[in-house]
Amino acid sequence: MTIDLLVSEVGPRDGLQSIESIMPLAAKKAWISAEAAAGVSEIEVGSFVPAKILPQLADTAEVVAHARTVPGLTVAVLVPNLRGAQDAVAAGAHKITVPLSVSETHSLKNVRRTHAQMLEEVRAIVELIRSQPEGRRPKFEGGLSTAFGCTLEGPIPADKVVELAGRLMDCGCDEVGLSDTTGYANPSQVKDLVRRVRAEVGEEAFAGLHLHNTRGLGLANVVAGLEVGVTTFDSSLGGLGGCPFAPGASGNIVTEDLVFMLESMGLSTGIDLPRLLEVRRIVAEAVPGEELYGFTPDAGLPLGFAPAGRKADAA
Ligand code: ZN
Repeated sequence: MTIDLLVSEVGPRDGLQSIESIMPLAAKKAWISAEAAAGVSEIEVGSFVPAKILPQLADTAEVVAHARTVPGLTVAVLVPNLRGAQDAVAAGAHKITVPLSVSETHSLKNVRRTHAQMLEEVRAIVELIRSQPEGRRPKFEGGLSTAFGCTLEGPIPADKVVELAGRLMDCGCDEVGLSDTTGYANPSQVKDLVRRVRAEVGEEAFAGLHLHNTRGLGLANVVAGLEVGVTTFDSSLGGLGGCPFAPGASGNIVTEDLVFMLESMGLSTGIDLPRLLEVRRIVAEAVPGEELYGFTPDAGLPLGFAPAGRKADAA
C-alpha cells in the first residue's frame, strides 16, 4: 500500500509534557508499540530536557531505547539545546527537532535565549551530528514555533518566519517545519505561510505542520495544508494536553480524527483506524483523570466506512 500522507504522533512528547500526571515508563512503551502496530510510522517519543523542568519526560532515554526496537518506526525527539542533542544522539534517536520560537519574547521566556543564541546552538548541533559516523546521523529539523501567533507578542509577521526559516537552513538544518504552538492559525494564513516558507527553503526541505486545536480550527488548517501540498502532519492521540485556558479544547489536533478525515478523503495514511482507536485505552488507563479528546472515538466509525487503501483496492 502506498502512503500518501505521514501522520507523525507527538502525544508522548507534546501531550505528556502538557499534563500534570506522569505516565509510567511501561505505559509509554505499550502506547508506542501499540500505535506503531496500528501503522503509525513516526512518533516523537520525548524530549531531552532537565528532569526538574519536565519530570513527565525524565525517562526519555529509556523510551527511545524501547522505541528503537520497534520495527520500521522513526523515533523522533525534541531537544532545546546542544546538551539535549548530545543525549539524543547517544540514545540513538532517528530524528531531532529543535524548536526556535519566532516570537523572541517567547524564546526568552521558554528557553532563555535570543534568536542569535538559539541559532548558535543550532550550529553546534549540526556540528555534533556531522561528527557522527555515517548511518548514525539523525535527521535534524528546525521547528519554527509560535509561527502563526504568540500569546505574548500577538501577531507574528510572516516575513520574520520566512527569514528565520532561511537562517535555520543556513545553519545546516535538514528541514524546517511550522508550528502553531498557540492555536492561532487560520486556513488562509496556513496556505500563505507554507507557500512562502517553501519558496524560501525549497520543497524538499519543508518538514510539515504541527497544529493545535485550541480554537477548533485544527482540521480546517490541515485541509488548507493539503491544498498547498503539505504531506506531514503532527497530531496527538486523544488530543492529550488540552489547553488550560480553553476548556473542551484538545491540545494537538487529535490523531484519531485526523486519520479519519484523511482516510475518508481517500488519502492513505497506512494507519488501521479501528486498531488506532484501541490504543486510547492504554493512554486512558495510564493517566486516569486526564481528559482525552476526539469526535471519532466518541461517535464511532460511520456505517460502511472504508479506509483509503480499501477504496483504492476496490477501484
Ligand atoms: Zn505543540
